[in-house]
Amino acid sequence: MSPSIEMKKVMIIGAGFAGLSAARKLAKCGLGLEVTLFEKKEDSAFLPLLPDCLGRSIHPEFLLSNIENFCGKLKIKRLREEAAAVDFESQQVVTPSSKHAYDFLIIASGSQTNFFANQTAQNYAYALNNIDDVGKITAALESNKFEHFIICGGGYTGVETASNLWLYFKQAGWDKKIIIVERAPSILGPLPDWMKTYVQNNLKSMGVEILVNSVIEEVQKDRVRVCARPVFEKAMLIWVTGVRTADFIQQLPIAKNPQGRIVVDEYLRVNPHCFCAGDAAFFRDKNNFLRMAVQFAVNQGNQAAVNIIQSIKNLPLKKFRPLDLGYIIPLANNKSCGEVFGFKLKGLLPTALHFIMCIFRLSGLNNRWGLIRNLLKGGGR
Ligand SMILES: Cc1cc2nc3c(=O)[nH]c(=O)nc-3n(C[C@H](O)[C@H](O)[C@H](O)COP(=O)(O)OP(=O)(O)OC[C@H]3O[C@@H](n4cnc5c(N)ncnc54)[C@H](O)[C@@H]3O)c2cc1C
Repeated sequence: MSPSIEMKKVMIIGAGFAGLSAARKLAKCGLGLEVTLFEKKEDSAFLPLLPDCLGRSIHPEFLLSNIENFCGKLKIKRLREEAAAVDFESQQVVTPSSKHAYDFLIIASGSQTNFFANQTAQNYAYALNNIDDVGKITAALESNKFEHFIICGGGYTGVETASNLWLYFKQAGWDKKIIIVERAPSILGPLPDWMKTYVQNNLKSMGVEILVNSVIEEVQKDRVRVCARPVFEKAMLIWVTGVRTADFIQQLPIAKNPQGRIVVDEYLRVNPHCFCAGDAAFFRDKNNFLRMAVQFAVNQGNQAAVNIIQSIKNLPLKKFRPLDLGYIIPLANNKSCGEVFGFKLKGLLPTALHFIMCIFRLSGLNNRWGLIRNLLKGGGR
Protein backbone atom coordinates (compact mmCIF):
# COMPACT_ATOMS: atom_id res chain seq x y z
CA MET A 1 0.00 0.00 0.00
CA SER A 2 1.50 3.36 -0.98
CA PRO A 3 1.79 6.07 1.71
CA SER A 4 -0.30 8.46 -0.38
CA ILE A 5 -3.23 6.01 -0.30
CA GLU A 6 -2.89 5.53 3.47
CA MET A 7 -3.22 9.24 4.03
CA LYS A 8 -6.40 9.81 2.01
CA LYS A 9 -9.05 11.58 4.02
CA VAL A 10 -12.65 10.65 3.26
CA MET A 11 -15.40 12.60 4.98
CA ILE A 12 -19.08 11.74 5.22
CA ILE A 13 -21.80 14.20 6.19
CA GLY A 14 -24.70 12.42 7.90
CA ALA A 15 -25.05 9.07 9.70
CA GLY A 16 -28.32 7.84 8.22
CA PHE A 17 -28.80 4.85 5.94
CA ALA A 18 -26.60 6.24 3.15
CA GLY A 19 -23.84 7.63 5.39
CA LEU A 20 -23.46 4.48 7.50
CA SER A 21 -23.49 2.22 4.46
CA ALA A 22 -20.72 4.32 2.86
CA ALA A 23 -18.73 4.47 6.11
CA ARG A 24 -18.87 0.68 6.54
CA LYS A 25 -17.61 0.06 3.01
CA LEU A 26 -14.78 2.59 3.28
CA ALA A 27 -13.65 1.40 6.69
CA LYS A 28 -13.48 -2.21 5.53
CA CYS A 29 -11.85 -1.59 2.13
CA GLY A 30 -8.33 -2.28 3.40
CA LEU A 31 -6.79 0.92 2.03
CA GLY A 32 -6.14 2.39 5.48
CA LEU A 33 -8.25 5.46 4.75
CA GLU A 34 -8.94 8.10 7.38
CA VAL A 35 -12.74 8.08 7.44
CA THR A 36 -14.51 10.90 9.31
CA LEU A 37 -18.25 11.02 9.98
CA PHE A 38 -20.01 14.32 10.76
CA GLU A 39 -23.22 13.81 12.71
CA LYS A 40 -24.62 15.82 15.59
CA LYS A 41 -27.08 13.22 16.83
CA GLU A 42 -26.08 10.52 19.26
CA ASP A 43 -28.00 7.79 17.46
CA SER A 44 -29.02 6.91 13.96
CA ALA A 45 -32.78 6.36 13.65
CA PHE A 46 -34.77 3.84 11.63
CA LEU A 47 -37.32 6.24 10.12
CA PRO A 48 -39.76 3.84 8.36
CA LEU A 49 -41.10 2.72 11.75
CA LEU A 50 -41.88 6.22 13.07
CA PRO A 51 -45.62 6.12 12.24
CA ASP A 52 -45.87 2.59 13.73
CA CYS A 53 -44.53 3.93 17.04
CA LEU A 54 -47.73 5.94 17.39
CA GLY A 55 -50.38 3.27 16.80
CA ARG A 56 -48.64 -0.02 17.44
CA SER A 57 -46.82 1.21 20.54
CA ILE A 58 -43.44 0.24 19.14
CA HIS A 59 -40.89 1.54 21.58
CA PRO A 60 -38.81 4.26 19.83
CA GLU A 61 -35.72 2.94 21.63
CA PHE A 62 -35.71 -0.07 19.26
CA LEU A 63 -35.30 2.27 16.29
CA LEU A 64 -32.00 3.68 17.50
CA SER A 65 -28.45 2.55 16.90
CA ASN A 66 -25.56 4.22 18.63
CA ILE A 67 -23.19 6.03 16.26
CA GLU A 68 -20.25 6.08 18.69
CA ASN A 69 -20.32 2.27 18.94
CA PHE A 70 -20.54 1.93 15.18
CA CYS A 71 -17.56 4.25 14.67
CA GLY A 72 -15.56 2.65 17.48
CA LYS A 73 -15.89 -0.84 16.00
CA LEU A 74 -14.83 0.31 12.52
CA LYS A 75 -12.16 2.80 13.67
CA ILE A 76 -13.98 5.70 12.07
CA LYS A 77 -13.33 9.21 13.35
CA ARG A 78 -16.60 10.67 14.57
CA LEU A 79 -17.18 14.43 14.84
CA ARG A 80 -20.29 15.37 16.73
CA GLU A 81 -20.77 18.47 14.65
CA GLU A 82 -23.03 19.59 11.86
CA ALA A 83 -21.69 20.57 8.46
CA ALA A 84 -22.53 24.24 7.96
CA ALA A 85 -20.94 24.58 4.51
CA VAL A 86 -18.70 22.86 2.00
CA ASP A 87 -15.96 24.70 0.15
CA PHE A 88 -15.51 22.69 -3.04
CA GLU A 89 -12.52 24.71 -4.22
CA SER A 90 -10.35 24.24 -1.15
CA GLN A 91 -12.00 20.82 -0.45
CA GLN A 92 -13.10 21.61 3.08
CA VAL A 93 -16.08 20.78 5.24
CA VAL A 94 -16.93 23.79 7.37
CA THR A 95 -18.62 23.32 10.75
CA PRO A 96 -19.68 26.14 13.13
CA SER A 97 -16.33 25.80 14.95
CA SER A 98 -13.75 24.51 12.47
CA LYS A 99 -12.70 23.53 8.94
CA HIS A 100 -11.72 20.05 7.80
CA ALA A 101 -9.81 19.31 4.60
CA TYR A 102 -10.86 16.24 2.64
CA ASP A 103 -9.61 14.27 -0.35
CA PHE A 104 -13.08 12.84 -0.96
CA LEU A 105 -16.46 13.77 0.44
CA ILE A 106 -19.85 12.05 0.55
CA ILE A 107 -22.87 14.23 1.27
CA ALA A 108 -25.48 11.96 2.91
CA SER A 109 -27.41 14.46 5.01
CA GLY A 110 -30.87 13.13 4.14
CA SER A 111 -33.93 15.34 4.34
CA GLN A 112 -35.99 17.29 6.86
CA THR A 113 -39.60 18.45 7.14
CA ASN A 114 -40.46 21.22 4.71
CA PHE A 115 -42.69 23.87 6.28
CA PHE A 116 -42.53 25.93 3.07
CA ALA A 117 -41.55 28.99 5.13
CA ASN A 118 -44.89 28.87 7.01
CA GLN A 119 -43.71 30.23 10.35
CA THR A 120 -46.92 29.62 12.31
CA ALA A 121 -47.03 26.01 11.10
CA GLN A 122 -43.42 25.66 12.16
CA ASN A 123 -44.32 27.05 15.61
CA TYR A 124 -47.49 25.08 16.27
CA ALA A 125 -47.55 22.01 14.04
CA TYR A 126 -46.03 18.63 14.84
CA ALA A 127 -43.64 17.01 12.36
CA LEU A 128 -42.84 13.29 12.02
CA ASN A 129 -39.30 13.06 10.80
CA ASN A 130 -37.27 11.85 13.76
CA ILE A 131 -37.48 10.14 17.14
CA ASP A 132 -37.99 13.41 19.04
CA ASP A 133 -41.06 14.06 16.90
CA VAL A 134 -42.55 10.72 18.02
CA GLY A 135 -42.04 11.72 21.66
CA LYS A 136 -43.75 15.08 21.11
CA ILE A 137 -46.74 13.60 19.28
CA THR A 138 -47.15 10.80 21.83
CA ALA A 139 -47.09 13.30 24.71
CA ALA A 140 -49.71 15.43 22.95
CA LEU A 141 -51.92 12.37 22.35
CA GLU A 142 -51.59 11.26 25.96
CA SER A 143 -52.64 14.71 27.18
CA ASN A 144 -56.05 14.01 25.56
CA LYS A 145 -56.61 17.73 25.04
CA PHE A 146 -57.27 17.59 21.28
CA GLU A 147 -60.49 16.64 19.51
CA HIS A 148 -59.47 17.19 15.87
CA PHE A 149 -56.35 15.72 14.30
CA ILE A 150 -55.52 17.49 11.08
CA ILE A 151 -52.88 15.85 8.94
CA CYS A 152 -51.50 18.25 6.38
CA GLY A 153 -50.28 16.16 3.43
CA GLY A 154 -51.78 13.03 1.88
CA GLY A 155 -48.56 11.31 0.87
CA TYR A 156 -47.14 8.05 2.27
CA THR A 157 -46.39 9.49 5.70
CA GLY A 158 -49.76 11.28 5.92
CA VAL A 159 -51.85 8.17 5.27
CA GLU A 160 -49.67 5.98 7.50
CA THR A 161 -49.96 8.52 10.30
CA ALA A 162 -53.75 8.77 9.92
CA SER A 163 -54.14 5.00 10.22
CA ASN A 164 -51.89 4.88 13.27
CA LEU A 165 -53.84 7.64 15.00
CA TRP A 166 -57.00 5.64 14.27
CA LEU A 167 -55.44 2.59 15.96
CA TYR A 168 -54.28 4.68 18.92
CA PHE A 169 -57.79 6.07 19.50
CA LYS A 170 -59.41 2.66 18.98
CA GLN A 171 -57.19 1.15 21.67
CA ALA A 172 -57.80 4.09 23.99
CA GLY A 173 -61.57 3.91 23.37
CA TRP A 174 -61.65 7.58 22.30
CA ASP A 175 -63.85 9.03 19.61
CA LYS A 176 -61.72 11.63 17.77
CA LYS A 177 -61.87 13.18 14.33
CA ILE A 178 -58.97 12.56 11.92
CA ILE A 179 -58.80 14.68 8.77
CA ILE A 180 -56.26 14.54 5.95
CA VAL A 181 -55.86 17.82 4.06
CA GLU A 182 -54.32 17.47 0.62
CA ARG A 183 -53.67 20.30 -1.83
CA ALA A 184 -53.74 18.01 -4.93
CA PRO A 185 -56.88 16.45 -6.45
CA SER A 186 -56.04 13.08 -4.85
CA ILE A 187 -53.96 11.57 -2.08
CA LEU A 188 -50.77 9.59 -2.84
CA GLY A 189 -49.87 11.79 -5.86
CA PRO A 190 -47.91 9.70 -8.39
CA LEU A 191 -49.01 6.24 -7.21
CA PRO A 192 -51.27 4.01 -9.38
CA ASP A 193 -55.02 4.60 -9.27
CA TRP A 194 -55.82 1.15 -7.82
CA MET A 195 -53.63 1.95 -4.82
CA LYS A 196 -55.15 5.38 -4.28
CA THR A 197 -58.68 3.92 -4.37
CA TYR A 198 -57.73 1.07 -2.03
CA VAL A 199 -56.11 3.38 0.53
CA GLN A 200 -58.91 5.93 0.26
CA ASN A 201 -61.63 3.32 0.92
CA ASN A 202 -59.56 1.86 3.68
CA LEU A 203 -59.12 5.22 5.42
CA LYS A 204 -62.82 5.98 5.03
CA SER A 205 -63.64 2.67 6.73
CA MET A 206 -61.55 3.94 9.68
CA GLY A 207 -63.61 7.14 9.73
CA VAL A 208 -60.76 9.29 8.39
CA GLU A 209 -62.03 12.26 6.40
CA ILE A 210 -60.03 13.17 3.30
CA LEU A 211 -60.19 16.73 1.98
CA VAL A 212 -58.55 17.03 -1.45
CA ASN A 213 -58.01 20.28 -3.38
CA SER A 214 -57.74 21.83 0.08
CA VAL A 215 -55.16 23.87 1.91
CA ILE A 216 -54.54 24.91 5.49
CA GLU A 217 -55.28 28.62 5.54
CA GLU A 218 -54.50 29.61 9.07
CA VAL A 219 -52.71 28.03 11.98
CA GLN A 220 -52.91 29.22 15.57
CA LYS A 221 -52.18 27.47 18.81
CA ASP A 222 -54.63 24.52 18.93
CA ARG A 223 -56.75 26.02 16.11
CA VAL A 224 -56.61 25.26 12.41
CA ARG A 225 -58.57 26.75 9.53
CA VAL A 226 -58.90 24.69 6.37
CA CYS A 227 -60.32 26.44 3.31
CA ALA A 228 -64.13 26.63 3.14
CA ARG A 229 -64.57 24.96 6.52
CA PRO A 230 -65.36 26.29 10.00
CA VAL A 231 -62.29 26.64 12.20
CA PHE A 232 -61.27 23.39 13.86
CA GLU A 233 -60.92 24.04 17.59
CA LYS A 234 -58.88 21.84 19.93
CA ALA A 235 -56.97 20.85 16.84
CA MET A 236 -53.63 19.12 16.62
CA LEU A 237 -51.88 19.77 13.33
CA ILE A 238 -49.43 17.17 12.01
CA TRP A 239 -47.35 18.55 9.16
CA VAL A 240 -46.22 15.92 6.66
CA THR A 241 -46.35 17.82 3.38
CA GLY A 242 -42.96 16.73 2.20
CA VAL A 243 -39.29 17.24 2.81
CA ARG A 244 -36.33 19.32 1.74
CA THR A 245 -32.61 18.82 2.09
CA ALA A 246 -30.36 20.18 4.86
CA ASP A 247 -29.88 23.95 5.19
CA PHE A 248 -26.20 23.97 4.19
CA ILE A 249 -27.07 22.38 0.82
CA GLN A 250 -29.23 25.37 -0.13
CA GLN A 251 -26.10 27.56 -0.22
CA LEU A 252 -23.95 25.22 -2.34
CA PRO A 253 -23.21 26.54 -5.85
CA ILE A 254 -24.33 23.35 -7.62
CA ALA A 255 -27.40 22.05 -9.50
CA LYS A 256 -30.36 21.06 -7.34
CA ASN A 257 -34.01 20.12 -7.88
CA PRO A 258 -36.83 22.17 -6.25
CA GLN A 259 -36.60 20.05 -3.06
CA GLY A 260 -32.94 20.99 -2.86
CA ARG A 261 -31.75 17.49 -3.78
CA ILE A 262 -28.30 17.61 -5.37
CA VAL A 263 -28.17 16.55 -9.01
CA VAL A 264 -25.66 13.70 -9.35
CA ASP A 265 -24.34 11.95 -12.44
CA GLU A 266 -24.53 8.23 -13.17
CA TYR A 267 -21.60 7.62 -10.80
CA LEU A 268 -23.27 9.63 -7.99
CA ARG A 269 -20.70 12.38 -8.44
CA VAL A 270 -21.19 16.04 -7.72
CA ASN A 271 -17.62 16.70 -8.84
CA PRO A 272 -14.54 14.44 -9.03
CA HIS A 273 -13.95 14.74 -5.27
CA CYS A 274 -17.51 14.89 -4.00
CA PHE A 275 -20.29 12.28 -4.15
CA CYS A 276 -23.83 12.42 -2.86
CA ALA A 277 -26.13 9.57 -1.72
CA GLY A 278 -29.59 8.93 -0.29
CA ASP A 279 -32.37 11.50 0.07
CA ALA A 280 -29.89 14.33 -0.53
CA ALA A 281 -29.13 13.03 -4.04
CA PHE A 282 -31.27 13.63 -7.11
CA PHE A 283 -30.55 10.69 -9.40
CA ARG A 284 -32.25 10.25 -12.75
CA ASP A 285 -32.87 6.67 -13.84
CA LYS A 286 -33.78 6.78 -17.55
CA ASN A 287 -36.67 9.28 -17.56
CA ASN A 288 -37.63 8.83 -13.91
CA PHE A 289 -35.98 10.09 -10.78
CA LEU A 290 -35.50 7.87 -7.76
CA ARG A 291 -37.92 8.32 -4.88
CA MET A 292 -36.61 8.70 -1.34
CA ALA A 293 -36.35 5.21 0.11
CA VAL A 294 -34.14 3.16 2.38
CA GLN A 295 -33.14 0.66 -0.30
CA PHE A 296 -31.76 3.41 -2.56
CA ALA A 297 -30.03 5.23 0.30
CA VAL A 298 -28.20 2.08 1.41
CA ASN A 299 -27.19 1.11 -2.14
CA GLN A 300 -26.13 4.62 -3.09
CA GLY A 301 -24.04 5.01 0.06
CA ASN A 302 -22.28 1.78 -0.78
CA GLN A 303 -21.83 2.76 -4.43
CA ALA A 304 -20.45 6.21 -3.60
CA ALA A 305 -17.87 4.50 -1.37
CA VAL A 306 -17.02 2.02 -4.13
CA ASN A 307 -16.41 4.89 -6.55
CA ILE A 308 -14.17 6.70 -4.08
CA ILE A 309 -12.14 3.50 -3.72
CA GLN A 310 -11.99 3.22 -7.54
CA SER A 311 -10.86 6.86 -7.77
CA ILE A 312 -8.10 6.30 -5.23
CA LYS A 313 -6.93 3.22 -7.13
CA ASN A 314 -7.10 5.12 -10.44
CA LEU A 315 -9.63 2.62 -11.77
CA PRO A 316 -12.75 3.42 -13.84
CA LEU A 317 -15.82 4.43 -11.83
CA LYS A 318 -18.87 2.15 -11.72
CA LYS A 319 -22.32 3.35 -12.76
CA PHE A 320 -25.05 3.28 -10.14
CA ARG A 321 -27.74 0.89 -11.37
CA PRO A 322 -30.72 1.06 -9.02
CA LEU A 323 -32.57 -2.14 -8.25
CA ASP A 324 -36.12 -1.25 -7.28
CA LEU A 325 -37.61 -4.00 -5.13
CA GLY A 326 -40.88 -2.10 -4.82
CA TYR A 327 -42.69 -0.26 -2.08
CA ILE A 328 -45.39 -0.77 0.52
CA ILE A 329 -47.87 1.56 2.17
CA PRO A 330 -48.30 -0.01 5.59
CA LEU A 331 -51.61 0.84 7.23
CA ALA A 332 -52.30 0.18 10.88
CA ASN A 333 -55.52 -1.81 10.32
CA ASN A 334 -53.28 -4.38 8.55
CA LYS A 335 -54.90 -3.66 5.19
CA SER A 336 -51.75 -2.40 3.51
CA CYS A 337 -50.93 -2.31 -0.17
CA GLY A 338 -47.90 -2.12 -2.40
CA GLU A 339 -46.01 -3.38 -5.40
CA VAL A 340 -43.19 -5.80 -4.66
CA PHE A 341 -41.11 -7.37 -7.46
CA GLY A 342 -43.82 -6.11 -9.83
CA PHE A 343 -46.65 -7.90 -7.95
CA LYS A 344 -49.63 -5.92 -6.70
CA LEU A 345 -50.26 -6.73 -3.05
CA LYS A 346 -53.15 -5.91 -0.72
CA GLY A 347 -54.08 -6.78 2.85
CA LEU A 348 -52.09 -8.63 5.48
CA LEU A 349 -49.23 -9.83 3.26
CA PRO A 350 -47.79 -6.35 2.53
CA THR A 351 -48.20 -5.50 6.22
CA ALA A 352 -46.13 -8.55 7.11
CA LEU A 353 -43.55 -7.73 4.42
CA HIS A 354 -43.19 -4.19 5.79
CA PHE A 355 -42.26 -5.52 9.21
CA ILE A 356 -40.05 -8.28 7.80
CA MET A 357 -38.13 -5.61 5.86
CA CYS A 358 -37.84 -3.52 9.04
CA ILE A 359 -36.61 -6.48 11.11
CA PHE A 360 -34.10 -7.33 8.38
CA ARG A 361 -32.76 -3.77 8.09
CA LEU A 362 -32.81 -2.77 11.78
CA SER A 363 -29.36 -2.73 13.27
CA GLY A 364 -28.56 -4.87 16.31
CA LEU A 365 -30.11 -8.04 17.69
CA ASN A 366 -31.60 -6.20 20.68
CA ASN A 367 -33.50 -3.84 18.42
CA ARG A 368 -34.74 -6.66 16.20
CA TRP A 369 -35.84 -8.78 19.11
CA GLY A 370 -37.45 -5.75 20.78
CA LEU A 371 -39.45 -5.00 17.65
CA ILE A 372 -40.55 -8.63 17.29
CA ARG A 373 -41.67 -8.69 20.95
CA ASN A 374 -43.58 -5.43 20.48
CA LEU A 375 -45.31 -6.77 17.38
CA LEU A 376 -46.19 -10.11 19.00
CA LYS A 377 -47.70 -8.22 21.93
CA GLY A 378 -49.92 -6.58 19.29
CA GLY A 379 -49.45 -3.00 20.49
CA GLY A 380 -51.93 -1.88 23.11
CA ARG A 381 -51.34 0.61 25.85
C1 LIG B 1 -42.00 8.91 8.64
C2 LIG B 1 -41.16 8.29 7.55
C3 LIG B 1 -41.51 7.04 7.05
C4 LIG B 1 -40.74 6.46 6.03
N1 LIG B 1 -41.10 5.22 5.58
C5 LIG B 1 -40.32 4.61 4.66
C6 LIG B 1 -40.61 3.28 4.23
O1 LIG B 1 -41.58 2.66 4.67
N2 LIG B 1 -39.77 2.71 3.32
C7 LIG B 1 -38.69 3.38 2.82
O2 LIG B 1 -37.94 2.83 2.00
N3 LIG B 1 -38.40 4.64 3.18
C8 LIG B 1 -39.18 5.27 4.09
N4 LIG B 1 -38.88 6.55 4.49
C9 LIG B 1 -37.79 7.27 3.81
C10 LIG B 1 -36.43 6.83 4.33
O3 LIG B 1 -36.42 6.87 5.74
C11 LIG B 1 -35.36 7.76 3.74
O4 LIG B 1 -35.40 7.64 2.34
C12 LIG B 1 -33.98 7.38 4.29
O5 LIG B 1 -33.92 7.62 5.67
C13 LIG B 1 -32.89 8.21 3.57
O6 LIG B 1 -31.66 7.89 4.12
P1 LIG B 1 -30.50 8.99 4.16
O7 LIG B 1 -29.29 8.31 4.71
O8 LIG B 1 -30.40 9.67 2.86
O9 LIG B 1 -31.03 10.09 5.16
P2 LIG B 1 -31.40 9.99 6.72
O10 LIG B 1 -31.74 8.60 7.10
O11 LIG B 1 -32.42 11.05 6.92
O12 LIG B 1 -30.04 10.39 7.46
C14 LIG B 1 -29.45 11.66 7.29
C15 LIG B 1 -28.57 11.96 8.47
O13 LIG B 1 -27.85 13.15 8.20
C16 LIG B 1 -27.79 13.95 9.36
N5 LIG B 1 -27.57 15.35 8.96
C17 LIG B 1 -28.45 16.20 8.41
N6 LIG B 1 -27.88 17.40 8.19
C18 LIG B 1 -26.60 17.29 8.61
C19 LIG B 1 -25.50 18.20 8.65
N7 LIG B 1 -25.60 19.45 8.22
N8 LIG B 1 -24.32 17.75 9.15
C20 LIG B 1 -24.18 16.48 9.60
N9 LIG B 1 -25.20 15.58 9.59
C21 LIG B 1 -26.39 15.99 9.09
C22 LIG B 1 -29.13 13.71 10.03
O14 LIG B 1 -29.05 14.00 11.42
C23 LIG B 1 -29.35 12.23 9.75
O15 LIG B 1 -28.83 11.43 10.79
C24 LIG B 1 -39.62 7.15 5.51
C25 LIG B 1 -39.26 8.40 6.04
C26 LIG B 1 -40.01 8.96 7.05
C27 LIG B 1 -39.61 10.29 7.63
